[in-house]
Parts: sequence; C-alpha cells; structure tokens
Amino acid sequence: MKRKINLFITTFLIVMVTISSQVATRQTVQAQDFYPPVLEPVLSEDGLTLLNAMPTLVILDDPDHSLQGVRIPPPEGFTNSPESATATFAFTFSPAGDKDPWGQSCIAFPAQAKTGFIYAGSIWGNLIKSSVPIKIKACWASLSGSTLGYSGGGPFHRNFSGATKTNTWYAGSLANSLAGSDLGPTNYDMYITYNKNFSWYYGTDGNTPPGKSDLVSVALHEIAHGLNYMGSMTVSGTKGSWGYGTPYPNIYDTFMKSGSGTALTNTSVYPNPSPALKTILTSNNIFFHGTNAMAANGGNKVKMYAPSTWAPGSSYSHLDYTTFKNTANRLMVYAISAGTSIHDPGTISKGLLKDLGWKSGTSNVPNPISPSGTIADKTPTYKWSKVTGATQYRIQVDKGATKVFDKTYPASACGASTCQGTPTNTLGYFAYKWKVQAYIGGAWKTYSPYMNFTVSGGGGGPKAGFWRDNPWWVEFYVTTNQASVANFAMYVDVTGCGVYKITHTTLEAIASNHFSFTGPFYASGTFDTTTSAHGTAGLTSFYIAGCGTVSTGTYSWTATWRNSNQPDIVGGSEGDIVIVLPNSEDHHYYTIEKIEP
Ligand SMILES: [Zn+2]
Repeated sequence: MKRKINLFITTFLIVMVTISSQVATRQTVQAQDFYPPVLEPVLSEDGLTLLNAMPTLVILDDPDHSLQGVRIPPPEGFTNSPESATATFAFTFSPAGDKDPWGQSCIAFPAQAKTGFIYAGSIWGNLIKSSVPIKIKACWASLSGSTLGYSGGGPFHRNFSGATKTNTWYAGSLANSLAGSDLGPTNYDMYITYNKNFSWYYGTDGNTPPGKSDLVSVALHEIAHGLNYMGSMTVSGTKGSWGYGTPYPNIYDTFMKSGSGTALTNTSVYPNPSPALKTILTSNNIFFHGTNAMAANGGNKVKMYAPSTWAPGSSYSHLDYTTFKNTANRLMVYAISAGTSIHDPGTISKGLLKDLGWKSGTSNVPNPISPSGTIADKTPTYKWSKVTGATQYRIQVDKGATKVFDKTYPASACGASTCQGTPTNTLGYFAYKWKVQAYIGGAWKTYSPYMNFTVSGGGGGPKAGFWRDNPWWVEFYVTTNQASVANFAMYVDVTGCGVYKITHTTLEAIASNHFSFTGPFYASGTFDTTTSAHGTAGLTSFYIAGCGTVSTGTYSWTATWRNSNQPDIVGGSEGDIVIVLPNSEDHHYYTIEKIEP
C-alpha cells in the first residue's frame, strides 16, 4: 500500500529553450513553451520510498556555436558488447498512444533513436557497476514550442541495506546497486521524454552534422541525472530548501559546500527553508567536495552551476558552465551545442558518481583497447589501458574455448595512460578473443572482459562463419579469411540403418565464389551473395561401417549464412574418427557420426 501525502516541493520546470541571442550563459528562462504538470510525490507507508519525486532536469541547446564540431569519443577501451558491461539497462519504449508520467501522449519511438539510447546505456554500462538492471522508460512525443525534452520522475529510497549514509535519499538506480537487489521492482528508475520535432542526429559514430543535436550525447547526459547526478536543493520565492518536503537530504546534497567550505545542509548556517539558502544557491559560488571528483579535478573542489537567478532544471545539478564548457568534462554542463558529440562523461563526473556510491565498472581492471574487429596482422600489437598501482600485466589470447598463449609484461610497457606489447606468437586466419589482467599489491586481479578480433586475409567473398540450409540437411563453414569452405557436412537417412552426419573435413578453396570436391561424397556450390549459396551434393559407393556401401542421387541445396561461429579446428576434427575409404581416392577424409538409430 502506498499512501499519498502532500509534500512541500518546488517543481523543477523542464524547459528546452532555443536561445536566439549569442549570450554565453543563460541567466533566466527566456521561453517557456512547454511545462509538464507537477508530479505529486508519494511516500510509501513505511516512509522509506518516495515516488515521483526525482526532479526533472534538462539539457539545453547551447547558443555558443563556436563549440560546433567538437568530438569526444567514448571512454578508451569501450566496447559496445553486452559481455563487457558491468551494469545493464532495460529500456522500455512507450508504444504509440501511451502517456508519460506527465500526461504527454507518446508516439511510436523511432528505431534509430532506440539504437542511440541503447548505445548511451552501453557506455554507462561499462563505467558503473550494478547487479540490478537499470530501468528506463522512454517516450517520443510531439512537444510544443522549442522544448527538447525532459527526464526525471524516478523513485528515491533511504535506510536500505547497503546505504552508505542513513536518513539520506538515493535515486532508485543507485540504491538498487548498493542494496544488490531491486528495491522498487514495479517502478522505472527514470523516465525520459523527447521532442520528435527537434532535429536529431541518431547515429552512434559521433559524426553529428552542424545544426543537429546528438541523441547519444543527450541520452548520456539525461541518464546521468537518473544515476543520481542531481540533488534536492531548489529555490521558490524568497527561500531555498531541500529534502523534497522531508527532513532528509539527497546523497548529492551532502557533498555540497559554499565557497568558504560550509556544508549547504548545515542548518545552523543555512536553515531549511531559508532566504540564506536561496542566497548561497544563487551565489555562483558552490562546490562539490567528493574525494574522487576532486582528485579528477587536480585536487580542487569542483565548481557547480549556480547562476545568480535560479534556473529551474539547470541550477545546482550541473557542472559550472564557464569553468567546464571547453573541457573534457563538458557533458555535464547544462547545455550542449548542436553539431557536437560528447560520448564520454569525463573524469570529474565519473568521480562524482563514485563519490555518491557508484562502484566503478573497471576498478583494478584494465580495458583492452586493440586489436578488435577484423585485422590482417598475424602478430598484432595488444594495447590496453593503464591501471593505477599495477606492477605487471598479463594478456591471454584464446581461440574458442582454447587458450592460445598468455604473456606477461612489466609496468614499463605503459605510457601515461595506455600499455602495449607485441608477442611473437603468430596467429592463423581465425576468430580470437583476448583479455588482460593487472598485478597489484602481490596479486593478480580480475581479468578484463574479452575483446574479440578476427585475423582475415581480406577476401571480399562470402561471409565467414556457419552456413546451413533449411530444412536442415547440409551445413558448412566459410573460414575467417573467406578463402575456403570447411567441414561441409550432409545428413543422410540410410533405410534400416539410421541417420548419419557425414563431414568432409578438408578445406576446399573458394574461387570465383565457387567450390567443389569430388569422390564418393561429392558436393559443389556457388555463393550467389555474401550470405546465400546454392549447390548440389550426393554419394556414390560411400562406405558406412555397419551399413555397408550406400549411394544416393544428386540433391540440390540452398544455404544461408547463420552466424560467425567457427569450428574449433578447421580442416581436421582430431577428436573424431577419421575414416579413409579403402576403395577410392584416399586423399579424401571424412568423419561419419551416427545421429539417430
Ligand atoms: Zn542536465
């Protein structure tokens, strides 16, 4: 049971303002085209959960067009793969006709925009650590005027198991992470609504054209707020206040101090509510004092945005614009310029989240940087991120489930932020994966996630991997260098003797998109596209132990590419029985496996 109570709150107005003048900082809200209605906070019966209270925060279009063209790539070592993620996001895209918590009607969420959102989640998923999926509900709406969008509305929790401070509100995503369980299984951790009428760039490559807003950057920014990159302090009328109408601060509030070092939650200096609190919140002189954020800021307290006129949705919950707008930490200033892409939150904001209680996804764990993707070099250089305090590193290269080699490097393999080594081990034309671990304080730490790469001869032919027809009676592999067909297999049902899988284990070269082999088991095929092929196969006087000599006519097959799998051993299955036929071409090798009696 939840009960509603009336809380003293000041709503953060959510306003996306396109500012026509060339002012560098926004001191007031200049256009108010759209306001979502105020959500009424709901306190749970036990008083430990506050629903609908997360302030709604915005990212504004930066009028400073000199910033166009800035490109900040994702954090070094970022791989957009689920296996490297240390936190996962569960996105729910509202269907057309649904309404967001503020009553806005949603329309169908564009597929490309979904991709951008999910990519932004993946970046965060590699920076923070949580065993509980972070739930985001997103709405694509037609908002009036120049409102870009808004986010907020998630729950807060206090005094849960794992909380680092008592009687302090934590956003749902952070609370769940600290508790190690979902404290609000029926809630979303944040709601994000965007304006379909805005000119968005949906690509994830960061090549945002002039005049377009980069969806990935904006999503990255808004998700940060939902990770508790915001506090409860607000201004209404002549007074500043905090606590959403309760006596408890937000965890973010507890790190905030005045320029002279007084905590803003010190009620003997700044009563709650009070004009004194309003004065300091609009003083252009407030600082975040977390250890990690300060370490990333050269040991200095971190200046936060506190313009002389309270800016709803912007003040207090962003880095100071003037200080950080031209730095690597610019993602979390209140505005982003069109034509830019900011895909890394920056070390200060990452430190700030760590101060709030977020565990880093990569502590003590180096990130593989390269090789990845498809490469031609059979003795590639391995590059990974440096880890503080490591005296040695070890890389391991695997092929499938088999370790190919490992190699240890001293700390001298590292420069300022990255390390590298070039083992002499020569690789083949196969798919590999590699990982790296650091030796710190006398112990090997956790291995990094794997990074995948494929050594390829660069052929432009059929796609490498597993191919099969449908219904299923032939299957084969195209080798990773796209030069050969491997393990061409046919399933045959021998009347009265069972179903057998016959595999031709030698490599057959692909020339002009065609391959063939002859003998008692024969086949040929032509690749019509990179993912489809057709051909024939059959048996003449083929000996199967226990069945005798069998034969079939010539059958036609069509096959399509299924996935990028490769057999563990291409061209010879050492674990299987290799039968050399006594009565025919003895250079043809097969395995015969009984599938059904
Ligand atoms: Zn913001």
